[in-house]
Amino acid sequence: MIKVKNRKLLLLPGDGIGPEVVREVRKIIEWFNKNKSLDFKIEEGLVGGASYDKHKNPITDEVFYKALESEAVILGAVGGPKYDNLEFSKRPERALLKLRKELKLFANLRPAICFKQLVEASSLKPEIISGLDIMIVRELTGGIYFGEPRGIEPIENNERKGVNTHTYTTNEIQRVARVAFDLAKKRKNKVTSCEKSNVMEAGILWREEVQALKDKEYQKIELSHMLADNCAMQLLRDPKQFDVIVTDNLFGDILSDEAAMLTGSLGLLPSASLGAKDKNGKIRSMYEPVHGSAPDIAGKNIANPIATILSLSMALKYSLDLDKEAEQLDKAVQSVLDDGLRTKDIMSKNMKEISTSVMGDAIIAKLK
Ligand code: NAD
Repeated sequence: MIKVKNRKLLLLPGDGIGPEVVREVRKIIEWFNKNKSLDFKIEEGLVGGASYDKHKNPITDEVFYKALESEAVILGAVGGPKYDNLEFSKRPERALLKLRKELKLFANLRPAICFKQLVEASSLKPEIISGLDIMIVRELTGGIYFGEPRGIEPIENNERKGVNTHTYTTNEIQRVARVAFDLAKKRKNKVTSCEKSNVMEAGILWREEVQALKDKEYQKIELSHMLADNCAMQLLRDPKQFDVIVTDNLFGDILSDEAAMLTGSLGLLPSASLGAKDKNGKIRSMYEPVHGSAPDIAGKNIANPIATILSLSMALKYSLDLDKEAEQLDKAVQSVLDDGLRTKDIMSKNMKEISTSVMGDAIIAKLK
């Protein structure tokens, strides 16, 4: 077997349940190293509150440079009540924002897949949700969360004014649309682009630029445009009409949470954040579960590691060119669910409740 040499993965377990779920990911990477033609060097670093506790800084330069040198970063979660009163620059979330900003991770990918074994966990009717497989691509570094001017200022009559600015350029729109079109090519060839072009100029530009890119480079993709508020309704009415949805930072924040929750449990939802290609054609990337650090269950070995394990699967697919291994891992997860094994959060009648570490072991057993 030829080993692919010198591939570096950086694991950033973070806080709360982060270390518990990332530990299971580490076991799986070690299994791939041992049993497949892979040779990943696994590095770990402190991030968030764990880094603050040791260094009074949510991410040190050393860890940040390790992230720059890695092919992919896999993060657990950051934050917790202990850190809620820290000044803004020291808060655990600053580490995430720094990584996203400095790695220029402009596209956030969130799949919403309904596992057939867990149809009952959704608040929607089984016939609406069963077989659901959509991908939301959210622009992550532009729009109203970053636009200038911004702030709160005094105005006449002792009142105040809050200002945020929604801006997008052609390049910012087209680079994220390109990610969506490329993903659709590997799926059902369908992209729905969402904005509010009925009331916002930036929305008109968004619609025009996405359409122009499709006309120029992606003629075979079926592109439709939808107002973001309608998309929010359609996701509940008939979510299976969608394949890939691409939208801006603000609408994507809301629509991706909505789509994610269609499928039931936070413990199952992975995400990927992708950046631009560097001069060697490599894409910078970070993978993390959608859930947070879940302080209420931290340290009890009951957290569901599947969201983080599926984040590893996305890394195998989108950063590491290991589609087969990604598929193998996805199938192993499915197979464990087929066997009726469940962590506490997705437990239901007649199923067997298992711990975080046993879930990891069961998935590895299926890889074999
Ligand atoms: P949360 O996602 O941590 O937890 C919400 C609920 O879901 C909790 O009841 C928790 O026990 C449960 N849950 C979450 N993940 C689970 C898993 N893998 N298995 C089983 N149950 C799971 O959200 P929260 O409680 O609002 O936030 C807790 C902390 O996490 C806060 O400090 C918040 O700022 C932080 N947070 C971090 C991230 C991140 O690191 N990307 C994201 C969201 C929240």
